[in-house]
Amino acid sequence: MESIFAYMEKYDYENLFLCQDNILDFKAIIAIHDTTLGPATGGCRMWRYDTEMHAIEDALRLARGMTYKYAAAGVNLGGGKAVIMADPSRTDREPIFRTLGKFINRLGGKYLTGEDVGTTLKDMEYIHMETEYVVTLPTYLGGAGDISPMTAFGVTRAMQACCKRVFGSEDIQGRTVAVQGLGAVGSNVVEQLRELGACSIVTDIDPKKIDLMVEKYGVKKVAPEGIYDVDCEIFCPCALGGIINDDTLARLKCRIICGSANNQLSEERHGDMLEEKNMVYAPDYIANAGGTIYDTDRLGVGGVSHERGREKVSRIYENIERVFQIADRDQVPTYVAADRMAEERIRRIAEVKKYVDDLKP
Ligand code: NAD
Repeated sequence: MESIFAYMEKYDYENLFLCQDNILDFKAIIAIHDTTLGPATGGCRMWRYDTEMHAIEDALRLARGMTYKYAAAGVNLGGGKAVIMADPSRTDREPIFRTLGKFINRLGGKYLTGEDVGTTLKDMEYIHMETEYVVTLPTYLGGAGDISPMTAFGVTRAMQACCKRVFGSEDIQGRTVAVQGLGAVGSNVVEQLRELGACSIVTDIDPKKIDLMVEKYGVKKVAPEGIYDVDCEIFCPCALGGIINDDTLARLKCRIICGSANNQLSEERHGDMLEEKNMVYAPDYIANAGGTIYDTDRLGVGGVSHERGREKVSRIYENIERVFQIADRDQVPTYVAADRMAEERIRRIAEVKKYVDDLKP
């Protein structure tokens, strides 16, 4: 990124805030992309960046991603992100996160934060000491707690929609699913797939996690590199980004790719290649929105309701169907259709919002 303003202009960003404190050695960035649908919301990342431009670019890029995620999920929130430029293993967390809380509070609710890479629920508690504008909180502070089971539920709903498109029935029973990554989301996916009667083949770089899944659910296992070569109908990436690339595309035998990992396509052209290979790709930010939908559901409606939150997450099925409709209508790959779905919603709600209730001269 050569010019911050040129970048902001290109993708139509609203604000960029730089926050600094000498004594605490605190440097943070808050990026707000688009607030058409509601306050800018997105997690707080703590990471060591080579340069401040890299940190700014990351904050801007991630904020824009959140705009699309909420818009496509039907949530009334805009996109934002906070980035703290620091080693994620830094131990002086209370002053750091309370300072961020102070800065977030100054924005008066234009930005709501949450957990992300390098931050924990405990850090959110520190932020919450200084501001109410925190989405991700433990249950004892009125938050939704651990959201990964809901992310997993959203992934299985997306899988069902993909099965409907490919096999004519949403039933996953008897389907073979290769699950990569058995962490917070992947382990819940395996459990839920078992309940749905699917057969899973699993892998992780941590053999203990594999053994636990084999023991608990009787699933088959494979070495981490072997997951791309297994015979399966569905590949479910729940570990890393960039796993759809030239190498893996030559190996994957599945009909469907649907998982929780962020940024699954190494490059956009790999989304085009999936299309050419007649593989159905559930765009990552649509399929993995369950936790986010559940987490933010309590805002403005008086608190967490498991039933209401789960019902909203369940609609990821319809969101994926809508992606397919747009893909068919515009003759574009699903990753393009997902962006169009988000952009169409923002455009239309902007139109609704021009009818303000109390016009003043
Ligand atoms: P996690 O850290 O709990 O689990 C990731 C797992 O992947 C770990 O068990 C790790 O050992 C394994 N792994 C790492 N490299 C691997 C490799 N090369 N091969 C196989 N396994 C490997 O993370 P998580 O919260 O379960 O999230 C998984 C993915 O889903 C991430 O990309 C995350 O960004 C995304 N995601 C998570 C949530 C959520 O609710 N937690 C929401 C949206 C998106």
